[in-house]
Order: sequence, then structure tokens, then C-alpha cells
Amino acid sequence: MVRDYAQLHDPNAEYTMRDLSAVSMDVSVSRGSRDVTITDVQTTMVDGNFPWTLVRVYTDSGIVGTGEAYWGAGVPALIERMKPFLFGENPLDIDRLTEHLVQKMSGEGSIGGVTVTAISGIEIALHDLAGKILDVPAYQLLGGKYRDRMRVYCDCHTADEADPIACADEAERVVEELGYDALKFDLDVPSGREKDRANRHLSEPEIAHKTSIVEAVTDRVGSRADVAFDCHWTFSAGSARRLATALEEYPVWWLEDPVPPENHDVQREVTQFTSTPIAAGENVYRKHGHRKLVEDQAVDVIAPDMPKVGGMRETRKIADLADTYYIPVAMHNVASPIGTVASAHVGAAIPNSLALEYHSYQLEWWEDLVEEDVIDEGSIEIPEESGLGVTLDMDAVDEHMVEGEELFDEA
Ligand code: MG
Repeated sequence: MVRDYAQLHDPNAEYTMRDLSAVSMDVSVSRGSRDVTITDVQTTMVDGNFPWTLVRVYTDSGIVGTGEAYWGAGVPALIERMKPFLFGENPLDIDRLTEHLVQKMSGEGSIGGVTVTAISGIEIALHDLAGKILDVPAYQLLGGKYRDRMRVYCDCHTADEADPIACADEAERVVEELGYDALKFDLDVPSGREKDRANRHLSEPEIAHKTSIVEAVTDRVGSRADVAFDCHWTFSAGSARRLATALEEYPVWWLEDPVPPENHDVQREVTQFTSTPIAAGENVYRKHGHRKLVEDQAVDVIAPDMPKVGGMRETRKIADLADTYYIPVAMHNVASPIGTVASAHVGAAIPNSLALEYHSYQLEWWEDLVEEDVIDEGSIEIPEESGLGVTLDMDAVDEHMVEGEELFDEA
């Protein structure tokens, strides 16, 4: 009879050499199923409301992993360039392979930008693949889950984004008809006379107009929804401080990217000047790019974009760093269902996850790209199937490919 390890380690248990050899044989069988090598990597770009680069990693076992890289020209060519560094490797060594790609691609600029984005797409596909090989959901590879559902916030748009009433009407519709309890609106909208964007200055009337949008939307939704506002790196340090101060009397969930993303000293000064919560992070890369933002407490909320920043484990590392400073994570996201569900796995596996962005509510076929339902009543149920737990609908991918793209192989 084969005994389990608890029995073998029980000093009172009786067992024979035959028992021991049977157990070690089980271990070798199990290792055999993990003896898999990568045979190919392919990409197909889909023409969504952003160009989504879907990535597939193929193996000699027949198991295929699917990932997604943040939109960006040049991603497929970079992935093509990385193929030789992956052929023959074991896809279960996710951390080592990711670091291997960073080192091999250093000449192409792998500490930031589109090269990290391309690596992110592969890294996500490796998580899907590893989950399928080990028959566990991807969140299990990240340490297990804190929650069964990931809260999703809806990035909202109106025909006239500068009209406070139109914004409030859309907020009402998204809450009541679509079931979201978390929203975001843009605040870098035209506010009066044509703005000289180069000097980044906000006049008092411009601040008053932006404040009227915040007031209209937060008043309308009341306690039914949290609302964040995005500035897309538009304003000077002083203007950002004045705007954030004007918004202090409203229940702003967070004010996102009020200043340009390069100077983290300025980011810290703005954040620490105001009681309005400040978010940033979608325009920096890897844990190294987020280190100063976190260590200087230059943000109240950190917002990495998972399929851009370096992938699932890299986002987990950023979240862990942020958690040592008690900073919550609200992942930026403009991905297809593949990158979105992969982000939801990460959000489930980190303690300090606040919400995940959804940026495609006006694209009717977004969810058609996969066979499963993804977002329901403003949240994503974390799949329990192996890997990411979502399956591409190849007909839908074929229908919505960027012109000139080729559909990747089935398996
Ligand atoms: Mg943003």
C-alpha cells in the first residue's frame, strides 16, 4: 500500500522499502508531466478600441498558452525577435524566462517601453500555459486568492465630454443600466478657451469648469458609486495642486495623473500637498519604475497596467512593494478579455487590490472574443478552470483582426 508523506514522516508509522520506492516513483511520474518545451510563439493583432496584440506560446505537449500585450506598434516584431530565446525552454520557469528575455533584449531597451510590453504578453501566455500544465487556475500560481470576484470600474465617455450634465447622465446610466458601482471620467477635457497645452497652466475658470464636472457626477451618483477622474499627465505642478485643492470638498475616489509621469519628486509634492487622493503608475515600467513612486509615498493609489508593466508576476511584485507602504492598487487596463481576465487573476491574488479598469463598454463585441462571460454587474468572477480560464473564439478573432494580420494556429 502506498502511504502518503504524512505517514512516512510519522515516527510511529510502520512502512517498508517497497512503500518508499512507490512514493518516489509517483514523484518521478509527476515530474515527467512537467517535462514540456516551448516550440513556437505567434501573435495576432485584433482591431478593438485599441490594437490588442494576442500572444500564443506553443509546446511539444500540445498545450498552448494565450496572453496579451498592451497595444503598441512594434510589439509583434519584438516578440518575433525573442522567439529564439524561448525555443526549447520549459514554460514552467516563468520568472527565469522573463528575466532571461529582459537580459537578452537589453540592447532593444528592455527596462521600459514597448520591449517590456512585448515581454508582458509572453509572460501572461506562460501563466496560462503553466496553469494548464499543472491543472490550476492562474491565480494559484501567484499564491492563491484573497477574493472570488474582482471589482471592475468603468471608464466612461460621452459625446460632449466637457458638458457636466452629459457626464452626470452617463454616470447615472452606467450605474443603473450596466450595474457598475465604480466609474472614471476624463478631466483633461476642453474647459473654455482653447488651451495652450505646452505650458500646462490652468486658469481659474478652467479649474471652476473641471470642478463643475466633478460636482455634477459625484452629486448624481451619490453613494451608489465611487468615481475617479483622469487628467492624462496634463498640468503643471502648481495647476495640479490648485485643481486637487478645489476638489477636496467632493468625494473623489482618486485624481489620476495630474502631472507628467517622469518626475516623481513633483508627483510626491502634489500628492502630499492635497487630501484629494492621487493615482499614477500606468506610464512607468517594471517594479523598478514603480519603486520611487512607492518608497517616496508619491501616490495614494498605484495604477500599473499589467500587460504593459512586465506581466502578472511583475505586477504582483509591485503590489507587494506597495503593500509595505499600505498603498492600494487599481490596475489600469485597456485590454481585450484575455488581458483583462489575466489582470483579474492578479487582482484576486494580491491583498491591496482596489479595482480593475474596463475601457471598452462602448464596444459591443468585446466579450465575443472569448467563449466565456467575463464582466457581470460590475465585477469579474475569478475563473476556477486551469490557466486563465478563458478560451479565444477563433472566429471572432478572425473577424476582428487588424487588416493584413494572419490568424495564429489552433494548436
Ligand atoms: Mg489613466
